[in-house]
Amino acid sequence: MKPISIFEEKEFIDGRPRDAITIILKTIGCYRAREGKGCLMCGFIRDCVRRPLEPDEIVSQIDFDRIEEGMIVKIFTSGSFFD
Ligand code: SF4
Repeated sequence: MKPISIFEEKEFIDGRPRDAITIILKTIGCYRAREGKGCLMCGFIRDCVRRPLEPDEIVSQIDFDRIEEGMIVKIFTSGSFFD
């Protein structure tokens, strides 16, 4: 399964640029958006699968070949991490 997004960028730590990779995982999505409970600030719910994912479906979204030693890795979910 592919993530919603994966991209490389520079991140400045202590004023020095470091290689970083950001991964936005496809998930069940935020319950607030799923159930219409108030928050519609982001549009990630449109990219979600709207079902619980198996752990290996989550891990399969991470392209470990793109992660190099010393790289900053930022992982986001398409909603609440706890969902
Ligand atoms: S992920 Fe956050 S911003 Fe997006 S709908 Fe849910 S609570 Fe709102």
